[in-house]
Amino acid sequence: MSFIEFDPAKQPRCKVELHAHLDGAVRLTTVWELAEKKGITLATKSLEDLIDACSIKCPSTLADFLKPFSIFLPVIAGDGNAIERVAYEFCEDAAKEGVLYSEVRYCPHLLSSMHGPVKVPLGPLSPRDVVMRVNKGLSRGMVDFKITVRSILCCFRGKPEWSGDILELCLEFKRFGVVGIDVAGDEAKCLAEPETINAFRGAATAGLHRTAHAGEAGPANNVRIAVSEMFVERIGHGYHVVEDPDIYASCLDQEVHFEVCPYSSVLTGSVPLSDVKHPIVRFAEDDANFSISRDDPTLIQKTLDQEYEFLRGFGLKEVHFVRANFNAARSCFLPEDEKDILIQKLLQVYGSYTMLQFQNELPDYIPPKALAGGGDF
Ligand SMILES: [Zn+2]
Repeated sequence: MSFIEFDPAKQPRCKVELHAHLDGAVRLTTVWELAEKKGITLATKSLEDLIDACSIKCPSTLADFLKPFSIFLPVIAGDGNAIERVAYEFCEDAAKEGVLYSEVRYCPHLLSSMHGPVKVPLGPLSPRDVVMRVNKGLSRGMVDFKITVRSILCCFRGKPEWSGDILELCLEFKRFGVVGIDVAGDEAKCLAEPETINAFRGAATAGLHRTAHAGEAGPANNVRIAVSEMFVERIGHGYHVVEDPDIYASCLDQEVHFEVCPYSSVLTGSVPLSDVKHPIVRFAEDDANFSISRDDPTLIQKTLDQEYEFLRGFGLKEVHFVRANFNAARSCFLPEDEKDILIQKLLQVYGSYTMLQFQNELPDYIPPKALAGGGDF
């Protein structure tokens, strides 16, 4: 069968993005404006310098990748109005990227006043206040930009004492846009502390959806633990899973969903460009259940279309992008009736092209290009 070229970049609202961090999707223009208004002195002298200081240009480690958060997060954290604005702007930016449905994630404690500037003019902002302000911003943004966005609350490695609170917040706001729990942070430290594992088990018992960053900086075994001991339905990244054939086969059998983020996979040092075959290519070849997201666009400074383009360089075809968007819709954390509506909307956009999706047909791959040293970071 020949393939009619279908270019998602040219289609309005045909993408489903499941892995974007709210605090990693902040407009640096907003940070600069707020810092000036609030009299916060940033380490950089101009907006251009700020963008330069926050952009990750070369592959490094996950810990290094996460460092720029300390530059701009203090301008946002602890400030309810700023958080609401960031959530609102997230909706606008995602809508411009052609996103129909998004799940945005954040750690409410990291955005509360415990991590904000010392002087808090409007009084302290608790993690619960953060969730309420994010919800307010998302609600306004969804109406104004005609997009559907739900949120996932993240536990944070190294801060297991927050995990119980985060589970409680997830459950309290389950009917108000919070659809799941996650664990994020530096995986090189550990996958999850016992308190976090308990929170995930509590989430499973309470019927709350679960995803975990795993197999990104850590080994395939972290993916196994996340699935079998934390009962996750989705894995954030998961690239290293392909290194253990048994664990990978088991994930394929169970249709575990992988939320892959192409530029992030390289810039965090998770996948060296010298690798012959990028794990995302393996996922595509094996018809794994995966979707494509931006992770932290503030740091990566790439659009979702550029993420797709990056994968085209590895030989992925339009059929894989279509399939990835249907995978995302099938594996999103919406209730079943809302999920059906989302899938119907995708069917309207992709039309007869979806026949290919269900026929499970694969195109021939272009061998992965040797991009190392290409310097487009
Ligand atoms: Zn992430």
